[in-house]
Amino acid sequence: MYYDVVIVGAGPGGAIAAKTLDNSNLSVCLIDAKPKEKIGEKVCGDAVGKEFFDFLHEKINLEYPDEEVKDRIGGIKVFSPDRKTVFDVETKDGGYMLDRPKFGQHLLRQIKNVHLIDNTKFMDFYEKGIIVQRQNLEKIECQIVIDASGFNAVVRKRTNNNSNNSNNNNDALLMEKDIDKNDIAVCYREIRKYKFEDPHHCHIYLNNKFSPGGYVWEFPEGEHLNVGLGVLYPSAPKKQYGEYAKFRGEKFLNSEIIHGGGGISPTRRPIDSLVSMYNGIGIMLVGDAACQVNPIHGGGIGQAMRAGYFAGISIKKIFERNGNNGVGKISLNDLWEYNSYYMQNYGGTIASLDLFRIFLQNLSNEEVNSGMSAGLIQEGDLIKISEGEEINLSATEKITRIAKSLAILNTAKKLAYTAKKMKEIKELYRNYPSPEKFSEWKENVGRIYEDLRRHL
Ligand SMILES: Cc1cc2nc3c(=O)[nH]c(=O)nc-3n(C[C@H](O)[C@H](O)[C@H](O)COP(=O)(O)OP(=O)(O)OC[C@H]3O[C@@H](n4cnc5c(N)ncnc54)[C@H](O)[C@@H]3O)c2cc1C
Repeated sequence: MYYDVVIVGAGPGGAIAAKTLDNSNLSVCLIDAKPKEKIGEKVCGDAVGKEFFDFLHEKINLEYPDEEVKDRIGGIKVFSPDRKTVFDVETKDGGYMLDRPKFGQHLLRQIKNVHLIDNTKFMDFYEKGIIVQRQNLEKIECQIVIDASGFNAVVRKRTNNNSNNSNNNNDALLMEKDIDKNDIAVCYREIRKYKFEDPHHCHIYLNNKFSPGGYVWEFPEGEHLNVGLGVLYPSAPKKQYGEYAKFRGEKFLNSEIIHGGGGISPTRRPIDSLVSMYNGIGIMLVGDAACQVNPIHGGGIGQAMRAGYFAGISIKKIFERNGNNGVGKISLNDLWEYNSYYMQNYGGTIASLDLFRIFLQNLSNEEVNSGMSAGLIQEGDLIKISEGEEINLSATEKITRIAKSLAILNTAKKLAYTAKKMKEIKELYRNYPSPEKFSEWKENVGRIYEDLRRHL
C-alpha cells in the first residue's frame, strides 16, 4: 500500500489537514484507531471560538457547524477565588458549544477524496513508511506522516526512541519525545442535566483549593451543563471534583449525570520543532500532538484545526515545488516552512501564554484575590493576553506606586517581570531559526524559562 501522505488521527487537527489536501493530486489517507462512527467522541469542555470557523470557511470552504452546536456563547466570566471579583470578557465574535461526536462526523463528511481507514492504529516505522495494526500488522509506504493523534502523540513518541534506528536519525532529536509532567493538565468532566443560571456565558473559577494549578469550568449547553476541572499532574482530578461538587450544593448534587470521564491536555509551548525526518520520511506535528493548545484556558480544537490547515498547505507546496520524486526525497528543509511559519505567527503567542500560565500557577488564592480586586490586570487585558497581545502595565505601575499592601506590591513585581519575559519570548519566536541555528535558539528559549522560574 502506498500513499504520499498519511495522517494519523482524525480529530479536528487531522480532519482539517485532510480537508485541506482533499482537492490536491496527492494520494492521502487518514487513519484512526476508532471505528468511523465513534470519531469525534472525546471528553472536552466543547467550547470553541467562531473566529476559527470564519478563517477556515474562507480558506477551505469549511462548513460552519449547525445542528452540531449545542449552544451559542457570548462571552466568558472569570471569577477570583473568593468570587468577589468577576471579569466579564465579551468575546469578539462569540463561540459555540459543540456536540463533539456530531462535530467529528461533520468534519469527516466534508472530506471527499482522502481515504479514511478507520479501526487502524499507528504502531511504528519501517524503512519505507509506517506499520499499522488493523486485524493484522500492515505496512504503508509513504513520504510524509502527519501526527495528529492528540495528547498521546504516537508518531512523535516513536521518532527517537528506537535504538535499532539510531543511525542517521539526528534530525529526529529536533522533537522532544516526552513532555514534563508540570506541563500537563489532568481533567475530570461531567455533563449534567442542569439549567445553568447564566445561559450565555462560560464561567471559569480560579481556586487553588479545588483545582490546584488549573481551574474549574461551568459551560452551558442548553438543558445541560458541561462542568469540570483541570489540575496540575499528579493531583487527582476526580477527587478534587468531588470536593467541588459538594461545595456547589444540593441542587447541583441532585442533578442527573449524563456523562462523566477524564482527559489530559498539554499546556505548554509547542514542541520546539514541529517537523523532523525519520528514516527518510517527513514528520509533521499538528494539534495536541504538537502541544498547540492555549496554555491558559486549555482550548485546542480551533488551534488544532488551524494548524492542520497550515500543515496541509505546506505539503501541497512541497509537492508542487519538488514534483513527486518518490520515497526518501523529502528533506528537512522542505518541511521547515510549516515550522517557521507556525512558530513565527502562533508559536510565539502560545509560548508567551505558557509563561503567563507559570506566573498564575505560582500565585496563592489570596494573591489572585487581591491582584484581581486591585486591578493589577484589567478586564479588557484578559482577552488581549489570551490572544497573545502584550500586557498593558500602566495600571500595574500606578498600583505599584500607591500599593499599601506588600502582597500586592510583590504580585505586581512578578507580573511586570513575567510581562517582560513574555515580550522577549515572542521576539525569539518571531526570529524562529533555520535548522542549523535550531540548538542555539532552543537554548535561548530554555534560558527565558529558567529566568522566569527563578524570579517567581
Ligand atoms: C477535559 C478537556 C476539556 C477540554 N476543553 C476544551 C474546550 O472547551 N475547548 C477547546 O477548544 N479544547 C478543549 N480541550 C482540548 C481539545 O479537546 C483538544 O485540543 C483537541 O481535541 C485536539 O485535537 P487533535 O485533533 O489534536 O486531537 P484529538 O481530538 O485528541 O484527536 C486525536 C485522534 O487520534 C486518534 N488516535 C490516537 N492514537 C492513535 C493511533 N495510535 N493510531 C491512529 N489514530 C490514533 C484518536 O482516536 C483521535 O480520533 C479540552 C481537553 C480536555 C482533555
